Amino acid sequence: LNGSVRQESSLFTVQSPNVVYTDDEIKSKYAYQTTEITRTADNKLVATPKATNYNFKVNRKVGKVGMMLVGWGGNNGSTVTAGILANRRNLSWETRDGKQTSNYYGSIVMSSTVKLGSDAKTGEEINIPFHDLLPMVHPNDLAIGGWDISSLNLAESMDRAQVLEPTLKNQVRKEMVEMKPLPSIYYPDFIAANQEDRADNIIEGDKACWAHVEQIQKDIRDFKAQNGLDKVIIMWTANTERYADIIPGVNDTADNLINSIKAGHLEVAPSTVFAVAAILEDTPFINGSPQNTFVPGALQLAEQRRAFIGGDDFKSGQTKMKSALVDFLINAGIKLTSIASYNHLGNNDGKNLSSQKQFRSKEISKSNVVDDMVAANHILYEKDEHPDHTVVIKYMPAVGDNKRALDEYYAEIFMGGHQTISLFNICEDSLLASPLIIDLVVLAEMMTRISWQSDSEGEDYKGFHSVLSILSYMLKAPLTPPGTPVVNALGKQRSALINIFRACVGLQPESEMTLEHKLF
Ligand code: NAD
Repeated sequence: LNGSVRQESSLFTVQSPNVVYTDDEIKSKYAYQTTEITRTADNKLVATPKATNYNFKVNRKVGKVGMMLVGWGGNNGSTVTAGILANRRNLSWETRDGKQTSNYYGSIVMSSTVKLGSDAKTGEEINIPFHDLLPMVHPNDLAIGGWDISSLNLAESMDRAQVLEPTLKNQVRKEMVEMKPLPSIYYPDFIAANQEDRADNIIEGDKACWAHVEQIQKDIRDFKAQNGLDKVIIMWTANTERYADIIPGVNDTADNLINSIKAGHLEVAPSTVFAVAAILEDTPFINGSPQNTFVPGALQLAEQRRAFIGGDDFKSGQTKMKSALVDFLINAGIKLTSIASYNHLGNNDGKNLSSQKQFRSKEISKSNVVDDMVAANHILYEKDEHPDHTVVIKYMPAVGDNKRALDEYYAEIFMGGHQTISLFNICEDSLLASPLIIDLVVLAEMMTRISWQSDSEGEDYKGFHSVLSILSYMLKAPLTPPGTPVVNALGKQRSALINIFRACVGLQPESEMTLEHKLF
């Protein structure tokens, strides 16, 4: 269980007058190149290249890191835990297809590579693991803990989830029996009534109160102390809650939200109470479910305390495909006119979503995922014109965690023709979501060690904005700093992540121009 620290071994160093390595830090001077557009009196566009100078500083000391999951005993929680234990011990197990070994497939951090540059002699592309771009925590080293309203130990939860092979479960069972979720807060009104029978591990009280915030803060501190941790990242992977109403005077400002918790207001969700406790403990909190945990008051509190938050809703199967496919279609100049998305699933998430208010949260988060791509193409779409988009989710116990996602994309092509694309996507849900949990933890932790300074003003170094929109690649309805645009397109999200990390070591974005191969 103990988080451990490994020695940083950098795969590469940057040789540049703009980059300095010390034992503790990597410092870079970076010219951020953008294009500023102005309009002339006769409405012509004028594009002016602009460079803004930043200094970045990366703390190289990763330290001991813990991950606390809210909903630890759920399908995702038990699957990611077993997966990390198996990787840590490099386990392999027999399946009907043969021997399977542990891996981190599906994790952008652990299983994808990034082009670093081209070989000086051969011109060959040199690709390195994403994980080696900056000194990141290794998931094998994470201490794992968390809360659940269900008292089952993690071995029992793993059996209940019906996700992993028995031959793997048997090898991690002994360790997982010892893992018991901390009691959690349960306000029945926020999740489906059909969840009540598993709620046997709860902290007294069925509505928000300050004692709940304090208990969660204490749990975080205790977990840190017990495991000798420098840092903890908290992830909401508990049930989807209904939306909370945004009510002036109740949850619209940080002060109002705190007072509403103290007064036991019925519109404060458990996830928001967790978020508030995490923010007050200066612990990054990421919401992997679709509900509006970050009501304006929670967001303001995070900004005031300069604590990191991220969300909402893991982007695992259907939506990940959607945010890649729609980006491709619209950028190919093809006019997507409708998307019909059906899902059926048989796990506890599906059971919870069979209740209308919880489904509504999911429907909202699944519905807005193409807006930015549509809005960017005014040749295909008039202002405020959108493709028709319908999302249906049905609970079908027999298919368990193997969610079926059926999508029809209908598009208009040249001269009134049509293209129809049908997808049948079997998303082994928890096996897709677990690597996202790992990525979110690793990347959120990384962001706690990056600071920046504006070159011109000579100010102190400071952190990124509280709302970590850099995590968007893993999230269905990315939360962004108030007033800033949401980017859903998968390719753009990946580029932003990689290029910001490259900037931290003084490297320009990978432009894909490969001019060296194209000129005479
Ligand atoms: P799950 O139902 O198996 O697990 C949720 C767990 O949360 C349960 O063990 C439940 O007892 C616990 N819980 C409920 N309320 C709680 C509270 N107040 N405090 C602590 N624990 C609480 O669901 P899952 O399949 O693990 O999914 C978890 C969440 O992730 C869901 O909201 C789901 O919509 C979201 N999600 C999952 C995926 C995916 O691919 N698996 C994708 C996007 C979003």
